Amino acid sequence: MLGRPRFVPLEQRFWSYVRKTDGCWLWTGSRDKKGYGRIHVGAKGIDRRPVLAHRLSWALHFGEAPSNVGVLHRCDNPPCVRPDHLFLGGQGSNMQDCAEKDRIAHGERVAGARLRVADVEDILRICGPGRTESYRSIGARHGVSEATIRDIASGRTWRRVREGKSAA
Ligand SMILES: [Zn+2]
Repeated sequence: MLGRPRFVPLEQRFWSYVRKTDGCWLWTGSRDKKGYGRIHVGAKGIDRRPVLAHRLSWALHFGEAPSNVGVLHRCDNPPCVRPDHLFLGGQGSNMQDCAEKDRIAHGERVAGARLRVADVEDILRICGPGRTESYRSIGARHGVSEATIRDIASGRTWRRVREGKSAA
């Protein structure tokens, strides 16, 4: 129906606020007092809440960071959401442990965080030369959309995994 609000996936909303430059990828949406980008996630009236844009960027690229671990900027530029400019703070010996638990608890909450590097490697392998399965079917198996698979296959997303693979 005309005029009816259309559901826009979180990942797509995220990228609509990102302006890539040769260096930092700048958040063009709203910012907090310190200059960090913010975006609202969750369903209206249920679990809608603001999250930091660079934390969401980390989640979309690498999986959700544990809530007790900071996502920090190498470039010291708060509005930057470029994944390779970010790193996790905190050096606890049980960090890996926490990350694992957090994934189990929250992995399904962030739409783009459902895929892990291992999933993406699997998807890239299947989407390589001689692909016999449709993007839709591959997506269904991994719980993501056809478009998400197409983006991975074309290198628009998860480029790091792709490049790591081709270099190997
Ligand atoms: Zn940066």
